[in-house]
Amino acid sequence: RPHAPGLEVVGAAARVPLATGGHVEYANLDHAASAPALRVVRDAVDTVLDRYASVHRGAGWHSRLCTSLYEGAREPVRRFVGGRPDDAVVFTRNTTDAFALLAHCLPPRTTVVVFETEHHAALLPWERTATVVRLAAPADADDAVAAAEAALRRRSPGPALLVVTGASNVTGEVWPVARLAAVARARGARVVLDAAQLAPHRSLSVAELGVDYVAVSGHKLYAPYGAGALVGRSDWLSAAPPYLLGGGACALVGDRETRYAPVPARHEGGTPNVVGAVALATACHALGGVDRSRLTAVEAALTARLADGLAAVPGVTVHRLWPSADAIGVVTFTVAGQPAAVVAAALSAEHGIGVRDGAFCAHPLVRRLLGAAGDGDGGCGTPGDVGQAIRASAGLGTSTEHVDRLLRAVRSIAAHGPRLAYVDVDGRPAP
Ligand code: PMP
Repeated sequence: RPHAPGLEVVGAAARVPLATGGHVEYANLDHAASAPALRVVRDAVDTVLDRYASVHRGAGWHSRLCTSLYEGAREPVRRFVGGRPDDAVVFTRNTTDAFALLAHCLPPRTTVVVFETEHHAALLPWERTATVVRLAAPADADDAVAAAEAALRRRSPGPALLVVTGASNVTGEVWPVARLAAVARARGARVVLDAAQLAPHRSLSVAELGVDYVAVSGHKLYAPYGAGALVGRSDWLSAAPPYLLGGGACALVGDRETRYAPVPARHEGGTPNVVGAVALATACHALGGVDRSRLTAVEAALTARLADGLAAVPGVTVHRLWPSADAIGVVTFTVAGQPAAVVAAALSAEHGIGVRDGAFCAHPLVRRLLGAAGDGDGGCGTPGDVGQAIRASAGLGTSTEHVDRLLRAVRSIAAHGPRLAYVDVDGRPAP
């Protein structure tokens, strides 16, 4: 297993029931959706819960302790993403929330340049507050850099922001972030990096990459759901009114005037998620404290086994945007003649394997990969012609046995179909 000491995940040996009878060790090949928690994260959560009290709002010992744990959680997150010393660390609910916060803080007349290949969380929030230039899926990294440069050169005068993904949640390729940041800087634009998928797999430094803002989600970084962060330059964040107006976001509320708190409190209105922030910081500290190049090498071997093994199965297509690019452990595929939901249901019910099916909240990219002839629900609850695929994703809990079990199962499904009948494309087994 590609885990290092200190990075053991909880629940790795869980056994799950099979619809065909008996139990089997759960093969979690869905790390890209939400990764299991690290054991050190679970321990940190226990510690906070043992001392649970109000945060920023109490004079008691436990309140002061929780406040200091919460405030102390910012620095490990800043260090983990390689932030500059004066970068703000704002805790959010997740990456989606971090982008919505940044969209709220854009100066007037900002142009946002974004590739259509982005996750919806990075693709959409700018539409309310900026002029959006949406770029077609680039053919390769060079094409991405050229397209971004041309769009930024042609934009209207005023501030600009380039949105860049670190690694795709659908096709896994790693994007040329430093090169994109360089062309943005040369054109006077800022860059926000979607590191939701990159950060769990690779070390990164926003300072070295020349990126202005980065967003991450705790639940993809081996911490529980409910906490993420926006890290980056504080000027736009300080100039904007609070993201959520209320307690904590205001320094003074007078009869006629309301004075807002400075960043980060300004954008963290309401009682914050101390448990989530501490969990995220603990995961960042643990992941940042190991040699990640060794983990990357182990994961690359597993991913190659997975992708090459799937591509060799008759009837299976592996979908890649840039086939020869460096990629994280995300492999998206389809099986000829089998709806993605049925394949995913059979993998779970008959083989104890957890994958994701659907359109992965990246409809333009999935539509492009699969062609327009999709088969229904896009996976975000939106019916349409997006098409559906199956995504297997590796992480710290993945073993060679999990990968080999998936390959055996897909070979069997592709050749003979599932053993059970499934009622519909939602994949419910027939009674
Ligand atoms: N960006 C990417 C690349 C993602 O994979 C995801 C989650 N699938 C998000 C953004 C959104 O993350 P969250 O759901 O945690 O807000």
